[in-house]
Amino acid sequence: MKENPQGKIEASPFDVGQLYDRNSAVVDAAAAGNVHFGYWHDETDPSSLEEATDRLTDLVVERLAPGPGQRLLDVGCGTGKPALRVASRGARVTGVSISQREVALARARVAAAGRSDLFDRVDFQVADAMALPFPDASFDGVWAVESLTHMSDRAAALSEAMRTLRPGGRLVICDFLLRAPVTGEKAESVRRMCELFRAPSLAGPEEYRAAIADAGFVLSEFTDIGEHVRPTYLALAEALAAVEAPAEEAAAVEFLASVDLLPRIAALPEAGYVLAVARRPKN
Ligand code: SAH
Repeated sequence: MKENPQGKIEASPFDVGQLYDRNSAVVDAAAAGNVHFGYWHDETDPSSLEEATDRLTDLVVERLAPGPGQRLLDVGCGTGKPALRVASRGARVTGVSISQREVALARARVAAAGRSDLFDRVDFQVADAMALPFPDASFDGVWAVESLTHMSDRAAALSEAMRTLRPGGRLVICDFLLRAPVTGEKAESVRRMCELFRAPSLAGPEEYRAAIADAGFVLSEFTDIGEHVRPTYLALAEALAAVEAPAEEAAAVEFLASVDLLPRIAALPEAGYVLAVARRPKN
């Protein structure tokens, strides 16, 4: 992994896979299975990190509105909790991750759920979102929660989502945004965050909208829910500090050592978070 002259982090899918191989079990333990941010209604919302992260999954699901038997793809599926939550409502879900470890954890989660009906409806595989191993129009809906941020070629990942969606199918995205350019110490915090996440850079809202449209999607919602997810930075820092990383998770130190970064990002007014819905045109 290195930084190019434009200040963008250059990381391969292999680097990203390694990050999650090392860290997902620890983050999973801290956030009760969801490797993503939570959604709180307002400052008085007493929800736990688990409740808030499940709520974010539900915001995505509502927007996908899957009927029974519909085929969905989770791009960057983490350790499988969101996919299982969606599948338990009747849809068929395929989750892909670049991390072998995550796929193993996700499969173990299905086994532990002890519901034989889910075995047929959920599957997880290692695959690169920028070159998906599925035929055209395989899915009725695709979602990507906090995974596009990692892509060295976001346009390729969006066009793969487009190709594998049936005409008329929906894509739901949750991702980090940088509301406005930053300099000085703020820029240093953002650079550290990108380095930690192997993210080339954080996109601004206009750049993000354009990327979705350039892939051929019709955007129907683009909401900055940054203030609703902001409590996650501190909740996650607290939860990570409390995780007793077992010896075999020693490699996760990298993530645990970065917890000081979370309050810095939490304090950045420029830190936004998008919930976007787009549709593949019918023809
Ligand atoms: N969506 C999950 C996990 C988010 S963490 C959740 O909501 O819990 C980011 C995820 O993106 C990880 O699962 C990581 O393995 C995956 N990812 C990153 N780059 C990827 C790529 N090129 N192909 C497939 N998955 C990728």
